[in-house]
Amino acid sequence: MKILISNDDGYQAPGLMALYEALKDVADVEVIAPEQNNSAKSNALTLHSPLYVYRANNGFRYVNGTPADCVHIALSGLLDYRPDLVVSGINNGANMGDDTIYSGTVGAAMEGYLFGIPAIAFSQVERDWHHLDSATRKVRELVESMHQQQLIGHAPFLLNVNIPNLPFEQIGSTKLCRLGRRHAAEKVIQQINPRGETMYWIGAAGPVKDDADGTDFHATAQGHVALTPLKVDLTDHDNLRYWAQSVSRLSAAQQPATP
Ligand code: MN
Repeated sequence: MKILISNDDGYQAPGLMALYEALKDVADVEVIAPEQNNSAKSNALTLHSPLYVYRANNGFRYVNGTPADCVHIALSGLLDYRPDLVVSGINNGANMGDDTIYSGTVGAAMEGYLFGIPAIAFSQVERDWHHLDSATRKVRELVESMHQQQLIGHAPFLLNVNIPNLPFEQIGSTKLCRLGRRHAAEKVIQQINPRGETMYWIGAAGPVKDDADGTDFHATAQGHVALTPLKVDLTDHDNLRYWAQSVSRLSAAQQPATP
């Protein structure tokens, strides 16, 4: 099995090393990650400046770009083989509910999925690297058992996995979840810089709005690992019928009047 590893916290992040440690004995692994912290860069690609690939002392490669850039470069020319799996993380903090839209961790995995390769995004719920060793063991356990059950290397999938920061023995089973929801983000933070100009800092993610039974928020709060299969199709399938009627009324209204 060949695994491409990336992340969004940057090539020096402890979570990336944890992912490497989790998988290096399970598969042939290659690490290509952003040079800087690229959290919340989603699927962004760098189109207007050149990208460079560097080699760190520990063998990891890093790129002056986004998580999606790293995976894109790897799969479209840098690697001379096709990985069986793309794995991203382990992120410093939860990627649950609406976080998945903004997440660079999910973005890196999604780039693999868009290239037709199975992909998994891993995150730790709390942002302090506590119990990273147990997250590492959980990752190895999950990927090994997926490999044994021959889930890897066939049809592409995109999984989002959030692991609670707990001692290994206290982490519950892996629960299949849907995404929860957050309220809109907190207010932007305004400050004055030393030159008297106003600076704006994007506020924190909003508080949880839907953490009902069955959501990722609920599962991780109970100490379980939350596993959510994601899709890329943003079409509002539930409302296609409503929009069919509305759009036909719109087109009728736009018809030029018959003379
Ligand atoms: Mn991050």
